[in-house]
Amino acid sequence: KEKTLAIIKPDGLLGNHTDDIKKAILEYGFSILKEKTIQLDEDAVTRFYAEHSSKNFFSSLMKYMTSGPVVVMILEKENAIADWRALMGPTDASKAKSTHPHSIRAMCGLDIQRNCVHGSDSLTSAQREMSFFFRELSAV
Ligand code: ATP
Ligand code: MG
Repeated sequence: KEKTLAIIKPDGLLGNHTDDIKKAILEYGFSILKEKTIQLDEDAVTRFYAEHSSKNFFSSLMKYMTSGPVVVMILEKENAIADWRALMGPTDASKAKSTHPHSIRAMCGLDIQRNCVHGSDSLTSAQREMSFFFRELSAV
């Protein structure tokens, strides 16, 4: 089965959405293979979001992602990468509320930045992100 990396971002944790998000994950048929709660520092965010380092929103993204702990999880299911992105909903949580009302970002997110959750966007990203957070799985 396919695996993907999911993150409950600081707004998800601070807003007490963790239990609802995990419930949705399990109801959707994912298994949670690994899970840990960590505080990201600037170095980790720079490396994790390297593709966005030159974007105008990067300093704001940095502040947001280091504002509190995050929950990182490895999810497994057939078609896990696409299905987790579908369950999350679109990046802009304010739009998700009208277009994807049952998505997690509609439930818990606030706007284009504070959107509560992350999901790998490809097989390559999933491999990179899983080994980034779970070193022992670098060969998976
Ligand atoms: P993620 O990678 O977190 O799963 P995504 O793939 O839907 O989200 P990306 O385009 O990869 O979106 O952006 C990464 C994150 O950067 C977004 O989830 C959001 O928190 C933040 N972000 C994206 N675009 C903007 C923007 N225009 N202004 C502010 N923050 C943004
Ligand atoms: Mg992304």
